[in-house]
Amino acid sequence: MREITVIGSGVSGLSSAVRLQYAGFDVTILTRDLPQSTTSMAAGAVWYGGGTIGKAREWAEITLDHFMSLAKQDNTGVAITRLREVFPYDVLDPWYKDLLPHFAHIKKEDLPKGSEAGFEIDIPIVESPRYLQYLNDQFTKNGGKIIRQEIKMLDELKYEYPLIVNCTGVWSKQIADDPSVFPIWGQTLLIDAPHIQEGFMSDYSFTYMFPRDDGILIGGVAEPNVWDTNIDTGLTADIVARCTQIDETVADAPIVKQFVGLRPGRDSVRLEAEKLSDNFTIIHNYGHSGVGYTLSWGCAGDVVTLATNLIKDF
Ligand SMILES: Cc1cc2nc3c(=O)[nH]c(=O)nc-3n(C[C@H](O)[C@H](O)[C@H](O)COP(=O)(O)OP(=O)(O)OC[C@H]3O[C@@H](n4cnc5c(N)ncnc54)[C@H](O)[C@@H]3O)c2cc1C
Repeated sequence: MREITVIGSGVSGLSSAVRLQYAGFDVTILTRDLPQSTTSMAAGAVWYGGGTIGKAREWAEITLDHFMSLAKQDNTGVAITRLREVFPYDVLDPWYKDLLPHFAHIKKEDLPKGSEAGFEIDIPIVESPRYLQYLNDQFTKNGGKIIRQEIKMLDELKYEYPLIVNCTGVWSKQIADDPSVFPIWGQTLLIDAPHIQEGFMSDYSFTYMFPRDDGILIGGVAEPNVWDTNIDTGLTADIVARCTQIDETVADAPIVKQFVGLRPGRDSVRLEAEKLSDNFTIIHNYGHSGVGYTLSWGCAGDVVTLATNLIKDF
């Protein structure tokens, strides 16, 4: 038997599903929301290795490699884009600097006010709607089926689906009964400002501007333990004001769309198999916090390894 069921159709679920198909599995996705209504849709989404440690660096590196090759293809939604990253203090060079196509220090006199150090980097920026659609298309082209279904608890699936992959993001708190998961609320705006070609990121003030084909995605905010999914108009104005300090034309740029998303916070990603009975095993792949895109393809590779080992016992 090479059948497997993935729960969730965000970036983790779709990446896992597509990589499982490449490895010869017959994959079905069960999901409450379709890709365009997931947290993954709201994301920046930039590949960002900063803050990753241990195993996560390995996943980030695999994903970086994959995104670099997708950026050379049409219509994947991934592009290598120049970005300035600034800091209010001196910092060490990041661990991934030699993996990027371009890395340079910004001279002190060229830094924006309030910054002490900065890097100019070429980095993958993912246009989330297009990339999720690309993954979705890959999945269906390879014969995959997506079924809309809301699941209350994962073990309700035990009689029908012997091997499942849990990619339910922040909702793993409830359906996998994991108290260590918490939401990290985020809001982004897509603005129409095609003249802005270079990205910007300040981790310190959590302000960013990511140029994409469909507009410039600007943000941001990271508020732990907030489950609300409504747009905060006060924050919209605050994001515009912060980005206007970086580029004054942002103030007059039309807002095309706004997104709210709940990052699946957890102190580390849960990527492991949990055998609940002889006939029911769950591979968990959730808890990617603010780096779900950055880790996505690498984590999906480990899902395949776990599934391949488990399938021998079926
Ligand atoms: C504002 C913002 C900016 C971000 N920026 C970046 C960035 O620049 N770089 C980066 O790497 N990451 C970024 N992230 C983080 C990244 O978006 C997340 O880590 C990632 O999207 C998580 O993906 P996921 O597939 O695990 O979960 P989700 O996208 O939340 O998908 C979960 C899926 O599970 C399904 N599901 C949930 N509960 C159930 C249920 N009970 N029954 C059935 N199905 C269910 C949902 O319907 C959905 O399909 C950002 C996030 C936000 C919010």
